Amino acid sequence: MNILVSHCFLGEPCRYDGASRLDRQVIELHRAGHNLIPVCPEVLGGLDVPRSPAELQTDGRVLTQDGQDVTAAYLAGAKRVLEIARENNCAVAVLKARSPSCGCGEIYDGTFTHRVKPGWGIAARLLADAGIEVMDEEHLQASLYL
Ligand code: SF4
Repeated sequence: MNILVSHCFLGEPCRYDGASRLDRQVIELHRAGHNLIPVCPEVLGGLDVPRSPAELQTDGRVLTQDGQDVTAAYLAGAKRVLEIARENNCAVAVLKARSPSCGCGEIYDGTFTHRVKPGWGIAARLLADAGIEVMDEEHLQASLYL
């Protein structure tokens, strides 16, 4: 199966701070026979690495910690991610927990205080609304390894 994954899981240093989030469990999906399709919605939306940290606000905008509105880049990146998912017939996506792009079910609350709230990142929401099964690395389904 082709599985869309957050690129930072594979060691790509695409996070806002120039780091990655290498995740052995996600990489194990490849050993289990799946084809991993890496995407970073924020980079695909044209944002730089490194970049200012950003969080999704209650009004739907994405603002950086210094107040810049980066919503358009987040939306553009999410749209491109959905295109890539469709081009590769991905029915499942494994995305980074709590990110304003990739978080699914829980995200940072917009105050830059490390607090979280129920919610979805911009790309994760678009994928889920399109019928793709989206999960984060903390909720990987055991069935994917069978
Ligand atoms: Fe990783 Fe997603 Fe953030 Fe890109 S946008 S660095 S893939 S969590």
